[in-house]
Amino acid sequence: MRLDGRRYSNNVEDRRGSGGGKKMLGIGGGIGGLIIAAIIVWISGGNPLSVISQQSSFSTSNEIQGDYTPTAQEEEYANFAKQILAGTEDVWTQEFKKMGLTYRPPKMVLYTGAVNSACGSQTSAVGPFYCSGDETLYIDLSFFDQMEKQMKAGGDFAYAYVIAHEVGHHVQHLLGTLDQAHQQMARVSQKEANQLSVRTELQADFYAGVWAFHDNEMFGSLEPGDIEEGLNAASKIGDDYLQKQAQGYAVPETFNHGRSDQRVKWLEKGARTGNISYGDTFTPSYSAL
Ligand SMILES: [Zn+2]
Repeated sequence: MRLDGRRYSNNVEDRRGSGGGKKMLGIGGGIGGLIIAAIIVWISGGNPLSVISQQSSFSTSNEIQGDYTPTAQEEEYANFAKQILAGTEDVWTQEFKKMGLTYRPPKMVLYTGAVNSACGSQTSAVGPFYCSGDETLYIDLSFFDQMEKQMKAGGDFAYAYVIAHEVGHHVQHLLGTLDQAHQQMARVSQKEANQLSVRTELQADFYAGVWAFHDNEMFGSLEPGDIEEGLNAASKIGDDYLQKQAQGYAVPETFNHGRSDQRVKWLEKGARTGNISYGDTFTPSYSAL
């Protein structure tokens, strides 16, 4: 991506090194176990939606700035995230205006290890997430390293896709879709709730694509290979792919973020059309998604 001279968002709170919340390490002990847990949760469950956004208590525990000094790489990621978030602000402000609405940008909290949110205390094992309770994206930037090294899903546009996907959930929240889906999910069977989750996630992928289309239109940000990087990342975070990686087989009823081919399809559709009105993932039959 070409981001030279692009502005940084002011809606970013840097809590890196503050160790907010309890430390929850040791899922299976080694780094491998942690990484597997992180991938599975990000893609298949703990993520924003069904689980997290139901809670609303905000716990303010000790957030003491430690002696955290970011590496050059971490600073680069932080600046990148601020520029991408700024791009989503500009794009969604414009797109909401087209609909006669006003866009209220989300906040983004950068953290390391663990963090307190209106959706409870979370660790980076859940991966980047959005909490509608405080309209905030939470991201431990080491996830980008994990994408590159563990998931073979690296590249700047792949990282931008992750941020834009979480912003996509914020867009859903502002439009009322997210909260409606959550309410419905609470009333139906687990199987139906999973399907609603898939619909919600695929739409967030679509919105990420819509953002990319307009960001490129406004700023000429995309370079050859960028979209492919995003599609590659999408293909590595499908439920089928991850479950096969983790356990050797996939259980479709448990999918809650969508198959790889579906995630690729909706991200691509958003990036190709840039038109929010093509992003209805709730009306089509489930098998047609
Ligand atoms: Zn999501």
